[in-house]
This record gives sequence, C-alpha cells and structure tokens, in this order.
Amino acid sequence: MPLPRDASEALRTEVAGTVTEDPDALTRFASDASHMVQLPVAAVAPRDREALQRLVAWARRWKIPLVARGGGSSLDGESVPPPGGVVVDFAGWNAIVEISDADRLVRVGPGVVNRDLHRILASHGLFFPPNPGSWTMSTIGGNAATNAAGPRSFRYGSTRNWVRGLEAVLGTGELLRVGHRTRKASTGPDLLGFLVGSEGTLGMFTEVCLALAPVPERRVGLVLPVPDDLSFRRTLPRLLASPAPAFSAVEYLDRATAAALNRFASGRLPEDSALLLTELESTAADEETDLERVARRFSETGFTGEPVVYADADQLWTLRGQSGEALEQEGVRIHEDVAVPWSRLDELFEGTRALAKRHDVLVRLFGHLGDGNLHPAFVVDPMSDRARIVRRDLVLLAKRLGGTLSAEHGVGLLKAPYLALEHGEVGVSVLEAIKRRCDPDGILNPGKLYPASPLVPGGAAS
Ligand SMILES: Cc1cc2nc3c(=O)[nH]c(=O)nc-3n(C[C@H](O)[C@H](O)[C@H](O)COP(=O)(O)OP(=O)(O)OC[C@H]3O[C@@H](n4cnc5c(N)ncnc54)[C@H](O)[C@@H]3O)c2cc1C
Repeated sequence: MPLPRDASEALRTEVAGTVTEDPDALTRFASDASHMVQLPVAAVAPRDREALQRLVAWARRWKIPLVARGGGSSLDGESVPPPGGVVVDFAGWNAIVEISDADRLVRVGPGVVNRDLHRILASHGLFFPPNPGSWTMSTIGGNAATNAAGPRSFRYGSTRNWVRGLEAVLGTGELLRVGHRTRKASTGPDLLGFLVGSEGTLGMFTEVCLALAPVPERRVGLVLPVPDDLSFRRTLPRLLASPAPAFSAVEYLDRATAAALNRFASGRLPEDSALLLTELESTAADEETDLERVARRFSETGFTGEPVVYADADQLWTLRGQSGEALEQEGVRIHEDVAVPWSRLDELFEGTRALAKRHDVLVRLFGHLGDGNLHPAFVVDPMSDRARIVRRDLVLLAKRLGGTLSAEHGVGLLKAPYLALEHGEVGVSVLEAIKRRCDPDGILNPGKLYPASPLVPGGAAS
C-alpha cells in the first residue's frame, strides 16, 4: 500500500531531503541479510538533523513507522522495514567530522562504512578495533546500533567498548547528546550504553564519537589446520595460558566452511581440515621471536600442522568476512550467533550438531572461538517452521549452557520472542519503560528487539 496522498505531500513539503516512493527503487531497502522481505512505503534521506526531527514529527502525526538503515547487512531482520514503514537512509551521512590524534577520538556520521574508516584512520596510526565480517558494507551507525563485534573483539571487545558519544534524534523528536570525550566518567547509569545495541528502537544516531587504538607495528595472520574433533575445553586454556602470545583474534572454521571459502574466494587456506585463525600483534624488532614463541605454543597445545602466514592480517579478515557469502552459495540461509563460556564450548558444538541431526538440516560451524561465540549456519528455508524451531532450540541450548542468545548480531525480529529468556520479565519491563520514554508512539522500528512480530516466520515461539 502506498503512502496516503496527504501524508506523501506533507512529507515532501515538510522534510528537506530525498524522498523515494517508486516501488522498483524501494526494493533495495526491502530486505537485509536475513532473507525476510517487506517493501517499505517510502525511503527518505533527510538532509540534516533538523530535517530528521521534522521527519519524526511527521511520522508521529501520521502514525507511520520509521526504520533507520545503514548498510542493511543485519542478519535477524533488524533493518527489514516494518509493514507500512518508511526507511530512513543514512548511507549519505558519511562525513568524518573530526579526527583527534591527541585524544585518540573520531567523530563521524553514522553512514561511514567500517572498512572506509579503517583506511582513513591508518594514516593517523589509529584504528577502530571492532572489524565485523561485514566491514566492507556495514556502517558505524549500524555497528553501534547492534553492538557489533569482529575477530579483533577477542582482544579489544565489542563496539560498546569504543563508543564514547552519541547524538541521536529520539522518537519524540528531541535531540539527545550523550557521552564524554574523557576516558572515564562516573556520573550515574550509562545512558550511552542504553543506546548502543538499541537497533534503532530508541533513537536514530546522527553522529557517533569513537575511541581509537594505536595500530600495532605488525599484525600477522596465522592459519593453522586443526583436528575436526578438537576439544575446545582442553585446548583454549592451553593456547591462551599466561603469558599468552599477543593474540588479538582467535577464530575457528570447520572443514566444510573452510572448503566453501576456498571455493568462493579462491582462498589459499589449507585444504581438508578445520582451521584455527589467529592474529598476532607485534613489532618489527620482535616479530621473529614472537612468531617462534607462537609456534612453540601451538605445538605445546598439541597442534602439529604448519601455519599459513598472512603478513597483512587485514587480508585474512577480508577473506574470512566472505564466509557467510561462501556458505550462502552452498545453500546456507540461517546465520546464527550464540556464545557460551569457554568451559561449555564443547557442549555447544556437540549440542548444535545433535540438534541439526534431529531436525535433519545441514549445519556448518564457524565463529569467534576466543569469545566463545559460534555462528552455526544452517541449510534450511529461512521462512519455514523448521527454521524457527532450529533457531529456538539453539537459543535454548545456549541459555542452558550459561550463554547468550546473541553475541553480536542483535535481536531484530527473529530473536525478539526470546528476549525475556535473556533479561527476565523484570528486565524486559525496564527496557520497555525506557522505550516508552524515548519513543512514546512506538514509531521507531516497531517489532524489533521488543515484542514478537507477525513478520517472524511461523509466528512467535511457544
Ligand atoms: C557477510 C556478513 C558478515 C557479518 N559479520 C558480522 C560480524 O562478524 N560481527 C557482527 O557483529 N555482525 C556481523 N554481521 C551482521 C551485520 O553486518 C552487523 O549487525 C552490522 O553492525 C550491521 O550494520 P549495518 O550498517 O549494515 O546496519 P543495518 O543492517 O542497516 O541496521 C542494523 C540495525 O541498526 C539500526 N541502525 C542503522 N543505522 C542507524 C542509525 N543511524 N541510528 C540508529 N539505528 C541505526 C537499524 O535500524 C537496524 O536495527 C554480518 C553480516 C553479514 C551479511
């Protein structure tokens, strides 16, 4: 259904920016990487903050939902438009507002692509550590709104650890500026933290201030063949025993994922084996000794294979970032995301394989091993009831093992039914109270993160 004529006219006269209502042009906003599809009624690229505030006032008046959109790469329907919704396109909000070498900070528009920022900051000898697999397409606004992470989060943590400030237009139209340029602040509860990971449901970010880290002199990627039946419970503590080599990433690909990646990206990953991918931070002077130390640690851990070395680890992460696409080529449609404590990783691997067998679906296993974060990837129709049940059982498994139902992708539409499993009923009611204050009319990305939605394939889980 198109926008009512009066609403369309009001939108064009009241909001400065580009408005698209042509259904063909809107198809590129209809989905994210979750395979769910909902055509928006319009897409708006507001010119500036004031235009965005006017857009919110317009949406409140006409009771039309808005969904902020960055790179559209989310995996649980976070950026799929709500029915009858208008997409707020932030791709053009990609200004680098300030780079402060002295304070190791950068202020950016939310539409800056993660990898572009990485390249820009390189000449300053600085970097924003979270490097999601989607870093060539996902935006800083999207990363902040989903609390994204990546291989380097093993050493540096998720996006939340690096967001110093946010400017956001709330669902009331108010402009909220939160955060500090200082490294510390002890001024009550963490307002900034409420916005990080809020998936566009509380406010739309207009500027993000990020803390930065100095780029290590050397960053070497190491890819090591490992046995398929590895016990992570035994191996990880040994690999990372103190004094641990300066690993900034510890990743895992099962044999099938590694093979798919080699086929898709003409990779030079070792064949016919599961793989451990690590990144070692070092200096020019110490690199040789550090690599020898790592080789010793690998062999003490029981790994006998010869590592493939990537002198520039960025190349390894760009390759690794294509795992999802490589698996999609081979029929994978669900990219899951759970995490458990290290001591329960073996049970997570076993339990996931068992549930895949029980539901007769193929599964590929890879993920950010050092963070206990597994991405089971299932070959199953994402809109089927079986997909819903597989996801539900995986969520229940992760919770039973003392883990989380989403380590980095977010909640979106697909995991909204399980929010109380994570936070409890009281926790959810606190979240809902915050939502009511920030978005009293419920126009910001309804159906995501909070309640179950009719868009969830197969309906809410029982
Ligand atoms: C191949 C592939 C690999 C991936 N690998 C990883 C990974 O390693 N780690 C990881 O964490 N994720 C990963 N993801 C998931 C996804 O890329 C991340 O969630 C990413 O942070 C989304 O960013 P985006 O710009 O694409 O956001 P979008 O998909 O456009 O939006 C995501 C959410 O953020 C909100 N949002 C966007 N912009 C704003 C704004 N300006 N203000 C407020 N809210 C906003 C949206 O409304 C939505 O709720 C991967 C996805 C793919 C397809």
